[in-house]
Amino acid sequence: MMKFWIHNNTKAKSVKASQHMRKRLIKAGLVPDEQNPELVISIGGDGTLLSTFHKYEKQLDKVMFVALHTGHLGFYADWIDDEIDELVERIIEQQDNVRTTSYPVIQVNVEDSKGNVSSYRAINEGIVRRLTSLTMKTQVNIDTEYFENFRGDGLCFATPTGSTAYAKAIGGALIHPKVDIFQMVEIASINNRVFRTISSPIIIPKDQRIDLYPEKADDYVVSCDGQPVEFSDIKKISVSLCEKRATFAQYRHVHFWSRVENAFLGKNEK
Ligand code: NAP
Repeated sequence: MMKFWIHNNTKAKSVKASQHMRKRLIKAGLVPDEQNPELVISIGGDGTLLSTFHKYEKQLDKVMFVALHTGHLGFYADWIDDEIDELVERIIEQQDNVRTTSYPVIQVNVEDSKGNVSSYRAINEGIVRRLTSLTMKTQVNIDTEYFENFRGDGLCFATPTGSTAYAKAIGGALIHPKVDIFQMVEIASINNRVFRTISSPIIIPKDQRIDLYPEKADDYVVSCDGQPVEFSDIKKISVSLCEKRATFAQYRHVHFWSRVENAFLGKNEK
């Protein structure tokens, strides 16, 4: 019998949906297991899926996710709470033969001057900025070759599924999650006669990485999926696609461009 866990946000609707689902899955013989689940069900919003992902980010080989949104259809959530019983039935029926899809994840490695490396994963994006709102100055290398000297508020490195989140708000491209790449998007770069950056989002293939060599400062912040970590000593930040991907159980298929249309265009006249 399949081992599952439910991770929900604290909204009353999500708690109720979680309790209902747990009861039904246990009754059908599935086994709740918080430490080693095979299926992790996220109940809440896309933001909840981010915290669900990070709870299990070290177990990406073994875990598959499914998300139910207690608001509207999400970018990670294929189901809404009105459909909870249908989702429960599909989970029970398809324990041994569920279709899956997987999404790229990025890896952000922060190295200090002593060579210590702290590693982070993100399913949406990693953002590098100064904490004090001062200009960030950094050399940018692509695939170990010098590319540019960036000056501005910061740099955002987004996955394809993260392309509809913060990266979209700062002018990044929307990228279908089938494509195995990540993009670098500038945040308020300085461009004038003296300073110049590429000023366009750039797409990096899976076998290349970006290295940042930031100017010495003691107030950098690196945020992965909205979780900030402060650094006072950075020699290099490397961003690449992670060798692990996030696997999602596809109890039904929701077209990526339909999600985009639904979220950003709504019911515009054709
Ligand atoms: P949050 O409140 O958890 O999320 C902010 C909004 O971003 C919510 O509406 C959330 O949807 C939505 N969102 C999350 N992932 C998304 C995705 N892949 N595609 C489209 N929308 C998505 O905020 P947080 O904890 O500060 O940061 C979490 C994430 O929110 C970040 O990774 C960042 O991408 C995104 N964010 C976006 C903006 C912006 O667009 N200006 C600003 C801040 C943060 P739900 O309502 O379904 O949870």
